[in-house]
Amino acid sequence: MTVRLEGKAVAERIDETTRAAVRGLAPGGSVPCLASVHRGVDSPFRYYLKRQAKAAATLGIAFRDEPLRAGDGPPELVGRLMALDRDPNVHAVLLEHPLPPPFDFYRAVAALRPAKDVDGVGTANLGRLVAQMPVQVPAVALAAVAVATHYRLPIEGERVVVLGRSETVGLPLALLLAGKGIGLNATVTVVHSKSRDLKGALANARTIFSCVGRPGLLSRETVPEGAFVVDVGVAPVPDPARPGSSKTVGDADYEDLDGWAGGVTPVPGGVGPVTVAKLMASTLEAYRLLKAEGSK
Ligand code: NAP
Repeated sequence: MTVRLEGKAVAERIDETTRAAVRGLAPGGSVPCLASVHRGVDSPFRYYLKRQAKAAATLGIAFRDEPLRAGDGPPELVGRLMALDRDPNVHAVLLEHPLPPPFDFYRAVAALRPAKDVDGVGTANLGRLVAQMPVQVPAVALAAVAVATHYRLPIEGERVVVLGRSETVGLPLALLLAGKGIGLNATVTVVHSKSRDLKGALANARTIFSCVGRPGLLSRETVPEGAFVVDVGVAPVPDPARPGSSKTVGDADYEDLDGWAGGVTPVPGGVGPVTVAKLMASTLEAYRLLKAEGSK
């Protein structure tokens, strides 16, 4: 039997902790505030933005929508992030990723101090993750690990494969899984677009984390029988039920793996809701870190 590894229960548990902690803050005092910076109306990030705003509202977290203005370029983006970094009422800042040229994502995000870089994607946070002492960690990597630990998937000491090596998703996740301090002590293989023989790379894997964005990449052809799949990938495909519109799917062919894999996270409804919950938890963490800094 293949277990459907739903994200809802995992997200609810994280949200309960965040909500209780926000409620416990001093009455009449400040509340954690997340600012989300993006390119505006045409941005594919808008879908994620709506979910952030909704989650923040249910948890008592303040949310600031920060679209760039038409014609804003790299200097204006850096200026906006520097202003948000100085703003004492903003504790966490998320920058849309990826950004098209001429924007330079890493140069822009460097304007944020590590605590405010809520998605842990600046080089200061990524470097600290290598040293197993991050200030903030990408929410999606935390979410994938939270799903795996909630369902007690085989990780510690086991053969685990991460598909994808982007600096914001695949690599931080691989570092978390392989690490020994805050990490999970897995034996990790990282697979990418230049890897030959996907089936060989996945042979004997107990748990597979797929962070690619290529529908149908994982099926019975490549996934070992009984292995678990945490599907981080998200991609739009035409929806045959609604001609002219699209639906969201992951990297795994869920129907094909049903009855073959040990468990698979659905898309939507798997890692996605947990990523939003982790982003909110990291916003609270940013608030705590900045308050502690301020009280020194
Ligand atoms: P990305 O920057 O496009 O990276 C994709 C990675 O997949 C690259 O490392 C690429 O290799 C690798 N790749 C491409 N084709 C491959 C193949 N055939 N076999 C193995 N690896 C292959 O994307 P990203 O920002 O890391 O995001 C990855 C996926 O996660 C996307 O679908 C994104 O939408 C999704 N995502 C989901 C959440 C969530 O909450 N669920 C959050 C963030 C992102 P190279 O390095 O060689 O190019």
